Amino acid sequence: MEIKKDRVVTIDYSLRDDTGRVIDSSSEAEPLVYLHGNENIIPGLEKELEGKNPGDSLKCSIEPADGYGDRDEALVFKVQKKEFGENAEVAPGMQFEAHGENGVQIVTVVKIDGDDVTLDANHPLAGETLHFDVKVVDVRDATAEEIEHGHVHGDHDHESGDSCDCGDDCDCGDDCGDDCDCDDGCCN
Ligand code: ZN
Repeated sequence: MEIKKDRVVTIDYSLRDDTGRVIDSSSEAEPLVYLHGNENIIPGLEKELEGKNPGDSLKCSIEPADGYGDRDEALVFKVQKKEFGENAEVAPGMQFEAHGENGVQIVTVVKIDGDDVTLDANHPLAGETLHFDVKVVDVRDATAEEIEHGHVHGDHDHESGDSCDCGDDCDCGDDCGDDCDCDDGCCN
């Protein structure tokens, strides 16, 4: 079965930056499972995977425009340390989630200068060319409910109802960042 819109795709992948450093990878125990054609992964990688079949491998390099976008220096700004609250531990390199106009954003602490804290709301991979090494493990049809929700459900029974109960089985896992479009609130 080939990869196309509204099919559930399982891949093993590793992601490197321009220097060859591995930034991210799936482990054999936990490959990435996503619903194709629903903006669950970056557009460039979806494009590369379109039409591929289980067993296929591919290497591709994805420019920022098809990845996490270019860096926007307007997203680097200063706040007062006290805005983090009394006795809050704030250190350069720390990341936290902020809820903004574009959904959940990852914000990184760049530097601290007295009471001034410089923050960067660019996606940590913005401006990076992404080098992927991908193996397609499995492709299956999505259920009607998965298509309706726009994301994959686990092996458990998914109760239909008002709220999504993907819970811990939600593939978004701990990486609920900009990519996650679980509007049902299953993983936020
Ligand atoms: Zn769901």
